[in-house]
Amino acid sequence: DSHVAKFVYDFTEGNKDLKDLLGGKGANLAEMTNLGLPVPPGFTITTEACKVYLDSGEEPVALRDEVSAHLDALEARMGKKLGQPDNPLLVSVRSGAKFSMPGMMDTVLNIGLSDKSVQGLAAQAGDDRFAWDSYRRLIQMFGKTVLGVDGELFEDALESAKTAKKVTVDTELEAADLKKLVTRFKKIVKTEAGRDFPQDPREQMDLAIKAVFESWNTDRAKLYRRQERIPGDLGTAVNVCSMVFGNLGPDSGTGVAFTRDPASGHQGVYGDYLQNAQGEDVVAGIRNTVPLAELGQIDKNSYDQLLAIMETLENHYKDLCDIEFTIERGQLWMLQTRVGKRTAGAAFRIATQLVDQGLIDETEALQRVTGAQLAQLMFPRFDEHAKVEKVGRGIAASPGAAVGKAVFDSYTAVKWSRSGEKVILVRRETNPDDLDGMIAAEGILTSRGGKTSHAAVVARGMGKTCVCGAEELEVDTKRRRMTVPGGHVVEEGDVISIDGSSGKVYLGEVPVVPSPVVEYFEGRMHAGADDADELVEAVHRIMAFADRKRRLRVRANADNAEDALRARRFGAQGIGLCRTEHMFLGDRRELVERLILADTDEEREESLKQLLPLQKKDFVELFEAMDGLPVTVRLLDPPLHEFLPDITELSVRVALAEARKDPHENELRLLQAVHRLHEQNPMLGLRGVRLGLVIPGLFTMQVRAIAEAAAERKNAKGDPRAEIMIPLVGTVQELEIVREEADEVIAEVEAATGVALKLSIGTMIELPRAALTAGQIAEAAEFFSFGTNDLTQTVWGFSRDDVEASFFTAYLEKGIFGVSPFETIDRDGVGSLVKSAAEAGRRTRPDLKLGVCGEHGGDPESVHFFHEVGLDYVSCSPFRIPVARLEAGRAAT
Ligand code: PEP
Ligand code: MG
Repeated sequence: DSHVAKFVYDFTEGNKDLKDLLGGKGANLAEMTNLGLPVPPGFTITTEACKVYLDSGEEPVALRDEVSAHLDALEARMGKKLGQPDNPLLVSVRSGAKFSMPGMMDTVLNIGLSDKSVQGLAAQAGDDRFAWDSYRRLIQMFGKTVLGVDGELFEDALESAKTAKKVTVDTELEAADLKKLVTRFKKIVKTEAGRDFPQDPREQMDLAIKAVFESWNTDRAKLYRRQERIPGDLGTAVNVCSMVFGNLGPDSGTGVAFTRDPASGHQGVYGDYLQNAQGEDVVAGIRNTVPLAELGQIDKNSYDQLLAIMETLENHYKDLCDIEFTIERGQLWMLQTRVGKRTAGAAFRIATQLVDQGLIDETEALQRVTGAQLAQLMFPRFDEHAKVEKVGRGIAASPGAAVGKAVFDSYTAVKWSRSGEKVILVRRETNPDDLDGMIAAEGILTSRGGKTSHAAVVARGMGKTCVCGAEELEVDTKRRRMTVPGGHVVEEGDVISIDGSSGKVYLGEVPVVPSPVVEYFEGRMHAGADDADELVEAVHRIMAFADRKRRLRVRANADNAEDALRARRFGAQGIGLCRTEHMFLGDRRELVERLILADTDEEREESLKQLLPLQKKDFVELFEAMDGLPVTVRLLDPPLHEFLPDITELSVRVALAEARKDPHENELRLLQAVHRLHEQNPMLGLRGVRLGLVIPGLFTMQVRAIAEAAAERKNAKGDPRAEIMIPLVGTVQELEIVREEADEVIAEVEAATGVALKLSIGTMIELPRAALTAGQIAEAAEFFSFGTNDLTQTVWGFSRDDVEASFFTAYLEKGIFGVSPFETIDRDGVGSLVKSAAEAGRRTRPDLKLGVCGEHGGDPESVHFFHEVGLDYVSCSPFRIPVARLEAGRAAT
């Protein structure tokens, strides 16, 4: 009856597309089974069963019978019964969600062993030691993961057994020792869990299944899901698989294999093998593995069979696969496969290799790489050929290669970096007090904390190299030193190198080389034969696929000719944001200060007159660099406080002068003005169009500079395509006033020069009110550019300059968001305003041009969103242009 829910699938019943129901592991085990590969028989309990359990606290009524039926079938097939005393069938119980998730229960092996069946296993295998070792492993794993006993208690007991015997490795313990250990382990279970280790094999299995269900909701798993935005109600599947043994002697073993090199993408034999061992021994690194190729000498039959299977899998999945396998007395078994993880460089190479092999097409190739991988390839890196001394490894928290003198506090970091030293800030963990030091340092290294620790989050936000949680390093901030494994001490001032892409930590200075991918984008490297060029070739081809596919255009945020030229080399199709306030810093700041503080029309006009030629020259250079491409110039949008002297400093100076009875007339005046203009919330203050409206002549001076520069370029046979953009508009009235004045100035310049300019005028949408009234605003705007930095700030009420250092770490740790909304567009809030404003604007003016120029324009996930809501272009910093191009292409597939 098809209406009755089915909670259990035999491996022969599933396939790789049923990941929602069977989890990743279960779906792939089924796929391999159906391919005719040697998978030990078993069955998968669906995520649906898990969901029922999590909702109701009880397994679905039908589950027990279904499991019984599948177990019966399995037993019949294997010719033995679960836990049967004289000839036991043993099974593993493994979790397997759709997405692999840290914090969830993993595996319990050897279920079915008991005081009785351990004897049967010994007889069956002809190996006492093996049987008792399997039993103690079961109690250990079961005790820890199912009954919640502290795993260290078992580890300690195992250690003391070895010490007592004066041996160093597990394999030197004999059957009698292991038997004693089993007794010891059972006592630990009794004391800690308050119950006996269950002797009934079916009870073992049922408890393990329940434990897998429950592990879906551990705190760590929940936090991970919240951060990664994995829905909390998917549930996990449970795989019950008949055991095969790699620890039955030298003709047995276990290993992992990749169908091609996950580091380079090259085809070949990659993997590790460990003779006479069970799965977790490989991971635990108890004994040394041998390269997979040596299996060819150890067991040629199994080896040849494995290579054939690898080829089958790769052709079938059309991708790099990784594999876990076991050989039991000369018989090969496949325990797991999945599309394998790979380095960023390998992802690009493999995608193009598979295209060349005819396995995938261009569109599919774009799905095999990501913008984040491309960004990683664009960081400078350590020279692979350098001799290095690696002393530790932590979490690769923020990519890049950093070299500097170790310092152990923020104060020293700042002091040393001011005197020109490059420093690495080393801390046990960081907190907001370390912020200055983090800014001053080349990179940050911590011995504690994960990917969402303060150090990791802040470093990523700043684009600073960071390795965190390098636990082997003993950081002693009081004595300003750190001890590395082996006892060597790194003192304050000793040079270290950290690799934020791999998490590796080195002593001394490792030479840094520029990224070959950047060299390529810069036009300094072309396709060729050696290793780096192979990567460049692959990137080159994938970028071409993306450019052919994408609908979104990509522009740059740039305010000088140098950045504009780089952006062009990187593939920018124009400038989407030229922030003119950047042109007024440095030497010209004083002129702006005078303009803002001017009391009389003459004073004001005088400073405007001085600014005009400077502005014009800026624009001539910019239009020349971007000849033939659009350049959106935004009129001045300074938070005023950035242009005025610091109020406290100035007050002190004036007070001191008064005390000396020598008050300086100008400074007094300045102080009064600074007081008058002082704002509690400068970001919500006299900015953008507001400033243009209250300081007569400021915006018209800028418009004149743009118009005259464009006319000059035209006269020089250039092709300037200037667009004038008004910032921080909240209502169409503001825009109308500025527009009228601008149109007048443009007409004047056209008349004076005799050149027709065709300048378009548009606005930024960066306030909620602007987004909500976009239909009206479009009456006066030829284009919108969404300023998602300010829009995020104002929609959330988060100060963009403060939050990352104050409460965002806590928010990230609590999983309120997995990534800062200033980094990735908040689809549901800010994003929905972008979408509705774009629609409303286009209703008013169907040919309205739509772009985005906030930081989100270069963020992979956000680029997909802007594609979906139908913007015409994204604009981002020059360095992120390749990433935006790639993601725009991926979004269009
Ligand atoms: C924005 O607000 O998104 C924007 C691009 O302008 P700025 O960052 O200069 O405020
Ligand atoms: Mg803004």
